[in-house]
Amino acid sequence: MNVNLIKEFVAIVGKDQVFADEVDRQAYSYDAAVLMPQVPALVVMPETQEQLGKTVKLAYENGLPITVRGAGSNLSGAVIPSSADTVVILTNRLNRILEINEEDLYAVVEPGVITSVFAEAVSARGLFYPPDPGSQTISTIGGNVALNAGGLRGLKYGVTKDYLMGMDFFDCNGDLIKTGSRTVKCVTGYNLSGMMLASEGTLGVFSQIILKLVPPPKDSKAMMAVYDDIADASETVAAIIAAHILPCTLEILDKKCLTYIEAYTHAGLPVDAAAILLIEVDGSHAQAVEEDADKVIELCKKCGAKYINIAKDAAEKNKLWEARRNALPALARARPTTVLEDATVPRSKIPAMVAAVNRISEKYSLEIGTFGHAGDGNLHPTILCDRRNKEEFKRVEDAIDEIFDAALNLQGTLSGEHGIGIAKAKWMEKETNRATVNFSKKLRLALDPKYLFNAGKKIV
Ligand SMILES: Cc1cc2nc3c(=O)[nH]c(=O)nc-3n(C[C@H](O)[C@H](O)[C@H](O)COP(=O)(O)OP(=O)(O)OC[C@H]3O[C@@H](n4cnc5c(N)ncnc54)[C@H](O)[C@@H]3O)c2cc1C
Repeated sequence: MNVNLIKEFVAIVGKDQVFADEVDRQAYSYDAAVLMPQVPALVVMPETQEQLGKTVKLAYENGLPITVRGAGSNLSGAVIPSSADTVVILTNRLNRILEINEEDLYAVVEPGVITSVFAEAVSARGLFYPPDPGSQTISTIGGNVALNAGGLRGLKYGVTKDYLMGMDFFDCNGDLIKTGSRTVKCVTGYNLSGMMLASEGTLGVFSQIILKLVPPPKDSKAMMAVYDDIADASETVAAIIAAHILPCTLEILDKKCLTYIEAYTHAGLPVDAAAILLIEVDGSHAQAVEEDADKVIELCKKCGAKYINIAKDAAEKNKLWEARRNALPALARARPTTVLEDATVPRSKIPAMVAAVNRISEKYSLEIGTFGHAGDGNLHPTILCDRRNKEEFKRVEDAIDEIFDAALNLQGTLSGEHGIGIAKAKWMEKETNRATVNFSKKLRLALDPKYLFNAGKKIV
């Protein structure tokens, strides 16, 4: 990049907060998706709102593509720079929790705050921020909002969108836009926070985010139901939802996942089982929690669980959730390449989707481990392969096409929580239609006429 332009970025944020050397820039060429990297021209780390706005303005005025990056943990290529002249804006120094309001149950944060750091700070004040993506110890709130991240508690407590009350963001001119409020209700203007949610860095750059907090549940009960047949496990998920019970967590792990997780964590998982369900019910009244747990146990047995282990204490419960959170790292150790998918279906269709993934795994002779937020209909079929093997990777790509076709045929969606990014942009029209893609393009170009905000992602 032109040296004088680099000096202008340095003048805004200081020289230690600009990476111009190639070795430094390389670290920002990829994210957690299996896609080709692209080294950006410059990496800039603003530390204040003012610096952030000026950085956006300078890049945009000079026609430089802008990719905003939180922790880079997304799985869809959402922060891989679109071209070699891209400026990556890192939010890791915009990491202040500005307010936790215990009276009015909200918090105001900067976008680079780490999700679990925020959740712990809220918990220390006796409140609860439920969205808990498996990546919560590294992901940022800005990344969570820009992808509408979900988590293990999505079934009962919802996902990031259910906690977004408002935000400030910078538009392409570096002007600060304010939307939403600290109030429970607010219909002032358009719902611009709703528009920015899941926008994947394509419409503007968040600088402050207002999040709803809730009182924590007082009681909970967690259990592991063990099955000899994965079809029985997936039938149990559908049966629990159909019985109108809402566990806070309802996760499925198949045999492959159990084997790899156990080898990695030694958590004592039943590796001889075909599948397990990890289930937690919670609430404000111990008796109601007990009643829900009893009903869930009954349904698990009725659907064929061979046994059910109930966590005796918090330590046992945490051990189960830790094992679940380690599913992806454990699978990733098996082969050089791990392709994690995110197909999501209506909950009653979980048994059909599980069957479809198993059929596709056999058809393409691929090792696919399936885990996920089954209670949300959100499965993560994870293909273990080696990208360098061209023949094998072609089978992987064909299998992914079929996984999406299966999800769409079951009235599902391409992505429950990982976003579209580069990885799934080509399927957008298949799930929606041409008019929808054109409408979205018009919206995008109205707000970003030079098409510089995260080009090549989401809507192309
Ligand atoms: C092991 C593992 C487990 C995971 N588990 C889950 C899970 O359970 N649920 C889930 O939903 N996801 C999960 N993910 C995916 C990922 O962690 C989440 O999508 C997370 O929200 C990404 O946050 P990030 O800070 O890493 O964002 P990044 O990857 O850095 O960025 C994601 C998007 O946000 C945009 N963005 C970031 N900051 C801003 C800003 N200030 N303004 C505008 N746009 C911005 C970026 O441009 C990009 O489009 C997992 C990933 C891994 C590796």
